[in-house]
Amino acid sequence: MQFNPRYPSLNPKLYHHQMPVPLKGAKAGHFNEALANQLQWSEQDKAKWVEICSGQKTFTEFEPLAMVYAGHQFGQWAGQLGDGRGLLIAQILDTNGQTIDLHLKGAGSTPYSRMGDGRAVLRSVIREYLAGHALNALGIASSNAVGFTSSTQGIQREKLEPGAMMLRTSDCHIRFGHFEWINQYQPELLTEFTQKCIEWHYPECLDAEQPVLAFATKVTQRTAVMIAKWQLVGFAHGVMNTDNLNITGSTLDFGPYGFMERFRPSWINNHSDYQGRYTYQQQPSIGHWNVWQWLNNLVPLCPTDYDKEQWKQDLASCLEHYEPTFLEHYKHGLNQKMGLPSFHKDSFDCGMAFLRILQSEQLDYTQNFIQLQNKQFEMIKDDCLDRRQFESFLTQYENIRANQETDELDAEMVQANPQYILRNHMAQKAIELAERDDFAEVERLFKLLHQPYLKQPDLEQTEDLGPLPSDVPEVMVSCSS
Ligand code: AMP
Ligand code: MG
Repeated sequence: MQFNPRYPSLNPKLYHHQMPVPLKGAKAGHFNEALANQLQWSEQDKAKWVEICSGQKTFTEFEPLAMVYAGHQFGQWAGQLGDGRGLLIAQILDTNGQTIDLHLKGAGSTPYSRMGDGRAVLRSVIREYLAGHALNALGIASSNAVGFTSSTQGIQREKLEPGAMMLRTSDCHIRFGHFEWINQYQPELLTEFTQKCIEWHYPECLDAEQPVLAFATKVTQRTAVMIAKWQLVGFAHGVMNTDNLNITGSTLDFGPYGFMERFRPSWINNHSDYQGRYTYQQQPSIGHWNVWQWLNNLVPLCPTDYDKEQWKQDLASCLEHYEPTFLEHYKHGLNQKMGLPSFHKDSFDCGMAFLRILQSEQLDYTQNFIQLQNKQFEMIKDDCLDRRQFESFLTQYENIRANQETDELDAEMVQANPQYILRNHMAQKAIELAERDDFAEVERLFKLLHQPYLKQPDLEQTEDLGPLPSDVPEVMVSCSS
């Protein structure tokens, strides 16, 4: 590994050094060797992956630390938070020279644990492990993980569950909530901290006339792009609190997430979200709200020679990039999924008409796009109660596609429509087996989701292809993890 320990160069008020506390009876769960290779792990590092991913081995080159941050949770100011159960154990260079954080989740309590036990259970570790892998393979910026370990130590949640640890990777663990903490508790750190964020994550902004404004615009745009991509694959993050969004627009901290099956825009996967703040359809506007909250934290950075009111207006203008960026990516992506040309004035309407059918007929989002891609129109129609609605959609669809380069459009559909997503019941089956020390299903899903756009008949199972029958109860997912 090639170390680049840069977070510890920040003011020590921003973190607390401490070592991981291993769980009893740590054992191998799953190892992502391809990612370890990308992170330039040596053969010796790889041979020790279980020790590293269970907190038994740390590195002399990096002293592990817990970060402090704050946040708005479910729309309310939550005050000080921080890594309550995870430690940054290294920052290393990958084969592209990019610095990647290694963050060990479930490593024991920290000064920021509040009432928590500092642990993670195998169920939630597997869910995050597989989803991070799936999002990366889908082409969506996200944390990932080098590996996870299980243990013989029981951890109390609603019931006693096996404790586990996961070695998460991300290009950034600096959250919107870092800025909120600094402004609330140590405002004198803001200038230097922001400067470091720009140097590390947006060096191209250093040359701008106002680097802070350029940075603010980029963060706004990247967040909008990330959320547009979530919407397109039907991903619902579940807890879009400001402490769970990072400044590089890569997906982070998706505990009670879900990939939507039947198309229900008001779907809530997180049963702890009683008011439905983080439903699938709310994500774009919640993202906007979070960026707005975050931008407020940059108000004190007004340069001395700048008019204060003008500075506020200029920050507000950064936020104005959010909606057009989101719409541009979402519309283009939906057109690609539909196999419709983006330049045609009716393409987006036609895509929306298809979504309305999926919604009113309660059809599976992923599979019906695949059926559209395969031109299995009769199959979709057979599943519709209102066939006239489908027929009028199909007429419009075929009219738009007439006289177009359909080969090119069809090729784009294949790149835009996953054959496989991580359905809750798929993860659940892998979890139940893993709790009995059988990780074969984790391995199968890991492979399947590695190439989500490719049909893999030898690896797939029928249950991967659609929702469970409506009489089977849904898997309940909550914040308890
Ligand atoms: P989350 O909503 O999972 O991102 O967690 C919100 C905050 O609670 C973060 O600061 C976490 O570190 C902390 N937290 C969550 N679960 C635990 C736990 N079991 N022990 C200690 N802290 C936790
Ligand atoms: Mg969090």
